[in-house]
Amino acid sequence: MPELVFFSGTMDCGKSTLALQIEHNRSARGLAGMIFTRDDRAGEGKLSSRLGLVTDAVEVEDGMDLYAYVVDHLSRGGRADYVIADEAQFLAPKQIDQLARVVDDLGLDVYAFGITTDFRTKLFPGSQRLVELADRVEVLQVEALCWCGARATHNARTIGGEMVVEGAQVVVGDVNQADAVGYEVLCRRHHRRRMTAATAHAAALSPDVLPVQPA
Ligand SMILES: [Zn+2]
Repeated sequence: MPELVFFSGTMDCGKSTLALQIEHNRSARGLAGMIFTRDDRAGEGKLSSRLGLVTDAVEVEDGMDLYAYVVDHLSRGGRADYVIADEAQFLAPKQIDQLARVVDDLGLDVYAFGITTDFRTKLFPGSQRLVELADRVEVLQVEALCWCGARATHNARTIGGEMVVEGAQVVVGDVNQADAVGYEVLCRRHHRRRMTAATAHAAALSPDVLPVQPA
């Protein structure tokens, strides 16, 4: 039976690496995949992993009908034996419904990869819809670690190294500015205390200054 599978996790948990591995394994068997992504770090129309691998992908736009896109591709004689959707947290809930329809009406497996929750620990709408609709949710546990060594389960947004808990849900990071938006994975304990690697290091250097963030 074809399935809609949601591979979920934090940043840095190896989602895109697994997406590329699935793509590699199936194309090695002569299967052709339709690969969707959105706002990948390598740029438009790319699916990349932190380990440096990259492949071409279809960049999803607002309002794009993913079911219609696959049907159109097939009706023009294109091949698609399965579908990969990376950065699925950035897809609209309606687009997740369209992916479910690809499974049910076209009989294709759909593998969606996404971050579960945002920097405020709230579900991304696309990820919420995937949890609601997926045949299977696989929580990826590729050991992303907090600076303290505990398993990192939460995404933090930082500005100039300081963790923030307010702002737009989606802001793409820029590592070229000192006060730029960045992201860091933390354990829940340190996410709740807003202690990033930078602030923990600063606190350790001045032992008479206690971390005074509210717990
Ligand atoms: Zn920690």
